[in-house]
Amino acid sequence: MLNLVLFGAPGSGKGTQSAKLIDQYGLYHISTGDLLRGHIRRGTEIGITADKYISNGQLIPDELMIRMLDDVLENEAKGKQGVVFDGFPRTIAQADALETLLSKRGMESPVVIGLEVPEDELMRRLINRGKESGRSDDNEETITKRLKVYHEQTEPLKDYYSNNGRYIPVNGLGVVDDIYTAIRDGIFRTTGVRRREHKG
Ligand code: AMP
Repeated sequence: MLNLVLFGAPGSGKGTQSAKLIDQYGLYHISTGDLLRGHIRRGTEIGITADKYISNGQLIPDELMIRMLDDVLENEAKGKQGVVFDGFPRTIAQADALETLLSKRGMESPVVIGLEVPEDELMRRLINRGKESGRSDDNEETITKRLKVYHEQTEPLKDYYSNNGRYIPVNGLGVVDDIYTAIRDGIFRTTGVRRREHKG
């Protein structure tokens, strides 16, 4: 089993690299941002609450996020070879909860890939994405807020995971495939796991 957390600021390439990892390693993808946007589209109670936070660039309260993740692990990720967590955890409380949720299911603690990208490049990417994504939070004002929230609430997780030797820093600047290769090498160095063999 291989559980990965794709960690990084908004615009650091978590979604892009997750897509490659799930394909190459046969992992189950959990993107909390996608799950929340799904709730908003369906107009669920969670969606109505989440919409207010997301369009304001803030994090959804931990309790709601942890409950949502617990449900997904229980109902959809069971019996998979491992999971890529994309956008979770974003706070220390979520990281603590993730350890508990995984260990109660006999799943391994995650290895954390930290995609490191300079601030001006993040801004540039998010503004560009906003031209096409239609996302309510990809406008300049909300992007600035999201980056501030990232520095204040999420970045401390780097130390959290570095302190127990599970943080793999990866330069997130450059060509998508080169960044993926650096991630793949980092996973191998840290865990000894290679991507699964492709058949056919
Ligand atoms: P993302 O698609 O990962 O950039 O997430 C978009 C937005 O969803 C974030 O700016 C938050 O408002 C919310 N969100 C996603 N994941 C989390 C999380 N783990 N904790 C709190 N809020 C989250």
